Amino acid sequence: MQAGDVVGGRYRLDRELGRGGFGVVWAAHDETIGRAVALKVLSEEKAGDEEAVGRFIREARTVGLLSNPHIVTLFDYGRVQDGARSTHYLVMELVRGRSLAQVMREERPEPAVALRWVRQICKALDAAHRNGVVHRDIKPENIMITEGGEAKVLDFGIARLLSQPAAGGLTSTDVVIGTPVYLAPECWAGGRIDGRADLYALGVVLYQLCTGRRPFNADQAVTMMYAHLHEPPPPPHTADPALDRLILQLLAKRPEDRPADAAEVRHRLRDLRVLRELKGAGDPEALRQRADDAWRRGAAGSPERAVEQLVALIPRFARAFGPADLRTLRTCHDLALWLARSGRPRAAVALLRELLPALDGHPRAREDVGRDLERWERESAGAEPEPDRPLALAELLDGSAQGG
Ligand code: ADP
Ligand code: MG
Repeated sequence: MQAGDVVGGRYRLDRELGRGGFGVVWAAHDETIGRAVALKVLSEEKAGDEEAVGRFIREARTVGLLSNPHIVTLFDYGRVQDGARSTHYLVMELVRGRSLAQVMREERPEPAVALRWVRQICKALDAAHRNGVVHRDIKPENIMITEGGEAKVLDFGIARLLSQPAAGGLTSTDVVIGTPVYLAPECWAGGRIDGRADLYALGVVLYQLCTGRRPFNADQAVTMMYAHLHEPPPPPHTADPALDRLILQLLAKRPEDRPADAAEVRHRLRDLRVLRELKGAGDPEALRQRADDAWRRGAAGSPERAVEQLVALIPRFARAFGPADLRTLRTCHDLALWLARSGRPRAAVALLRELLPALDGHPRAREDVGRDLERWERESAGAEPEPDRPLALAELLDGSAQGG
């Protein structure tokens, strides 16, 4: 397959987005509905492999069960027959952004931003686990960070429905499933697997996000297995002892010593964040500097980073100065600007519309917002619909914007 090919009489392949163990993921255009999509195509070698095909179909059925803003949405599943050859494909929502792996290679995300992503992943895991689905391959490559700074879980390729008989970590061909760095002890040992295996993997991701290191390093799978099964992870030494405790608990060897479920992890992370914010809340100068820093990042060509930082910063402004304070609302105006510059003029317009009445007592700021509103309304008139939900002002201010 190559760019320009039309698959299933409907999806025109545009460019390659990624390549994994099972095939190629393409950005494509759905000519029937007229929207951009992602197509995951099973490679031709794998199309003859019954186990691979079975997994692929299972991925479609599994993801098809789930509907959550932090899980990639499945649109369609199909099979193409080309003479004697046939292959299978999944059609998904196209996530514009970078994988978390790429993000971590390029930068060390701000702790507030990283914790917000992890809480969103918890929401995704909670939805999956409640539907009886264990992901089983949670790792940075399988988490996308959208241009709007939202986390989305993808690749349910080896997920298993809890109701299906557990095969442990080994397939019929005796290959350990999952990725060694993130694999919970019970997966190596072939024990019963439930959602807590995903929590362990999330613990490894959280460890990496907070320290820039992996808890275990080994170049051989056996050594890695030994470490996961028997070695205590080195303490992460983050700035917050409660966060250290949570990380180490996620990495507990026995599932029963881990937090009970993803919802518990999410709540504990939220409480941490609140503590941290209260500590910083009395320091207007530090907030101002961070807002300036976000602005500098935007101006240096990373409007998406500026968006991420400001979304995390605005609730702190609201707490420190009050939600109706001019400094808080000006920061929201900054956010609208970087939203527009990062290709989301519609989200910018929605936010500016909400800001206008909030600025009633501040004629100068109101005028500035009015001017930008007109401008972005004009520029977004013919723009493409935007995949991310717009950011509501009330949610931004109280820190709950898109699962924050
Ligand atoms: P595999 O099972 O082969 O690992 P993945 O589903 O993880 O396949 O996809 C491989 C890569 O393709 C991902 O790491 C990601 O970079 C990209 N990708 C996958 N799905 C999408 C999507 N819906 N939108 C954008 N990029 C995607
Ligand atoms: Mg993958």
